[in-house]
Amino acid sequence: MIPPLVWIAGVGKITAVALWFFTTQHTAALLFFFGPDPFLLYAVFVPSAQGLGRVFTRFATDRREIWLTIDDGPDPDDTPKILDLLDRHGAKATFFVIGERAARWPELVREIVRRGHGIGHHTHTHPVATFWCASPRRLAAELDRTLAALHALGVRPRWFRAPVGIKPPLLFRALAARDLRCVGWTVRSGDCRSRAPGEFVVATADRLCPGAIVLLHEGPSVRAAVRVAGLAQLLEAVAEKNFSCVLPRADQLR
Ligand SMILES: [Zn+2]
Repeated sequence: MIPPLVWIAGVGKITAVALWFFTTQHTAALLFFFGPDPFLLYAVFVPSAQGLGRVFTRFATDRREIWLTIDDGPDPDDTPKILDLLDRHGAKATFFVIGERAARWPELVREIVRRGHGIGHHTHTHPVATFWCASPRRLAAELDRTLAALHALGVRPRWFRAPVGIKPPLLFRALAARDLRCVGWTVRSGDCRSRAPGEFVVATADRLCPGAIVLLHEGPSVRAAVRVAGLAQLLEAVAEKNFSCVLPRADQLR
């Protein structure tokens, strides 16, 4: 199904062209042409915006539970260390993997699953610059190549995370056709912007609440000094605040 917002924008532009060429209502034509665009841009570029389709941003729980989500891996340096850290804390996480990295390091994906963690889909190439206007064909390639790589390992992801939260207008239709659901976040850790391990830890820990989805990264997205060490400090802070890191069920997502 095409999202209503996309229909409205399309009909608006056609109406605008008709008004411009067949009437003297040029001000109205400009309003019809550009009027829906701010709403569309908001829905595409604001990670938690729901205008084009459902983005889950938390999960329902009455316990002190959070969902750690780790994007942009797997990574041959970081993933094994992160898995050991999670084990040490009795924590579970979902790794939103980039398809071409999963295909390159399949043993890491297998190890993530073997240790009881979840695998999510984070596109095949992590496109950013032009992903906002991705065609149906490009969307299909980004989704299907990763699915093929993961299916070959016996992994069937149910969750998708949009790269930097950008959701092209036709993304949700493509996700639904593949039984994938879009997961956003409650707390963006800011680990990618940090220059020292722990720089983001206090602010992230302060924003934790039951049912929070926490966005973290591994691999080259994070500065070398922060990689893994930042997560180690965050897990300490999470434990101090008596939160446990769990994998929520589908029916808990909100
Ligand atoms: Zn990413």
